[in-house]
Amino acid sequence: MERTVHIIGGGLAGCEAAWQAASRGAAVTLYEMRPERMTPAHHTGWLAELVCSNSLGSNLTDRGSGLLQAELARLGSLIVAVAREARLPAGGALAVDRETFARRVTERITAHPRITLVRREVVALPADGVTVVASGPLTSDALAAELVRLTGADRLFFFDAMAPIVEAGSVDMGIAFRASRYARGEREEGDYLNCPLTAAEYERFLDALLGAETIALRGFERDDPRFFEGCLPVEALARRGRRTLLFGPLRPVGLTDPRTGQRPFAVVQLRQDNLAGTLCSLVGFQTNLRWPEQERVFRLIPGLGRAEFVRHGQMHRNTFLSAPTLLRPTLQLRSSQNVLVAGQLAGIEGYLGNAGSGLLAGINASRLAAGEAPLELPCECMLGALIRYITHVAPVAFQPMKANFGLLPPLGEAVRGKRLRFQALAARALRVLDAWCERVGVAGGRDGSSPAVHS
Ligand SMILES: Cc1cc2nc3c(=O)[nH]c(=O)nc-3n(C[C@H](O)[C@H](O)[C@H](O)COP(=O)(O)OP(=O)(O)OC[C@H]3O[C@@H](n4cnc5c(N)ncnc54)[C@H](O)[C@@H]3O)c2cc1C
Repeated sequence: MERTVHIIGGGLAGCEAAWQAASRGAAVTLYEMRPERMTPAHHTGWLAELVCSNSLGSNLTDRGSGLLQAELARLGSLIVAVAREARLPAGGALAVDRETFARRVTERITAHPRITLVRREVVALPADGVTVVASGPLTSDALAAELVRLTGADRLFFFDAMAPIVEAGSVDMGIAFRASRYARGEREEGDYLNCPLTAAEYERFLDALLGAETIALRGFERDDPRFFEGCLPVEALARRGRRTLLFGPLRPVGLTDPRTGQRPFAVVQLRQDNLAGTLCSLVGFQTNLRWPEQERVFRLIPGLGRAEFVRHGQMHRNTFLSAPTLLRPTLQLRSSQNVLVAGQLAGIEGYLGNAGSGLLAGINASRLAAGEAPLELPCECMLGALIRYITHVAPVAFQPMKANFGLLPPLGEAVRGKRLRFQALAARALRVLDAWCERVGVAGGRDGSSPAVHS
């Protein structure tokens, strides 16, 4: 007899997981605590409420979110299908009327004959069946405590202080140099890319940083004393004194610029951020600067004049697990194969990435309930690459990640020009995904416009 699939959280990941599992014949119970118990950011009782922007990213497949949208459509995503129904004119982006979107997702879920929606807060994981935990970045405190009990206190993070990530290929290596502080790195040539600053360049950068606009913190972030603990944004450090950064993220000690043979006045270090070495993060540069301001100010750092930002720095409340330590690429907990984690809680950023991880978790929950082996996605497609990243990156450096082309394995042949390269990577991603769907028997809707119901 098939076991029940329990899904905790009726957000983007939870609704997609519920739909996928039920569409494959599983009996699903979906738990959502709203409207009885609200989060600090949601305003309604609708399922799949978009908490901030109403854009699900680009429609173009040579953009990270656009490729993800195309993949999810092929896989029969409910979220993408409803988003396309509720779309608003927004140039190249998939922007939605947020109320129509959330209302329609709620209607589809409640009308599904195999989904039972239970409006209550879950405080302990169900003892039977298969469970998908998709309670999001604002997971209730009681459930967070249960997750800590299950995974260990040092495996659940409550706040995100993210440094920007740039494409390694966009760093000017005519200025930056490779080295490890005190030559203590693992690689002989050095583990870090170092951007050296003269005293005048440092002063100019500091003035721009001090004058830059920041994002206003929301009430629940501003009022929580844990928010900035131990992880000050770079602009807050700079406000403590004009030389403070020289003893913090811009300290030059232990580094010699091979071009001058001297220790620079200040140094910004970039650390490799993915296995392929195509991305790197600005060390110690967690920031709350507005996104265009980050690009303007950080491009003043010598060597980053033409840096391509694939992720901006952010500071916000965000509950997420240490996915590299805890999760398998099937999204099952390593310690408990009948518990899967999806959405922001798994360390995936962005609406469509959250929905996509729910999609895989839903497929796998239905397979586990039926006694079948769970599936892994190929890493050549964007969703597979994103899940591979969160489950394989070094745990110490782990921060939530969103879809971007730096996650995909390089092409066999060299393609000149970024757009052409991204188009070739996208074409390969969709080809590989189609072949995978065929091989494992995963069928989606017709390009997601009407998600198929599989009995
Ligand atoms: C303030 C804020 C703004 C954001 N803005 C954006 C943005 O503009 N663009 C973007 O792409 N991403 C944004 N994100 C990141 C992320 O993409 C969204 O939060 C996204 O909604 C996460 O999807 P999810 O399904 O993981 O969680 P959610 O959509 O938050 O769904 C989780 C659900 O679980 C419920 N829940 C929580 N605890 C329990 C419990 N114990 N029992 C039962 N139900 C529970 C919640 O009520 C919620 O409905 C933002 C995040 C935050 C916190």
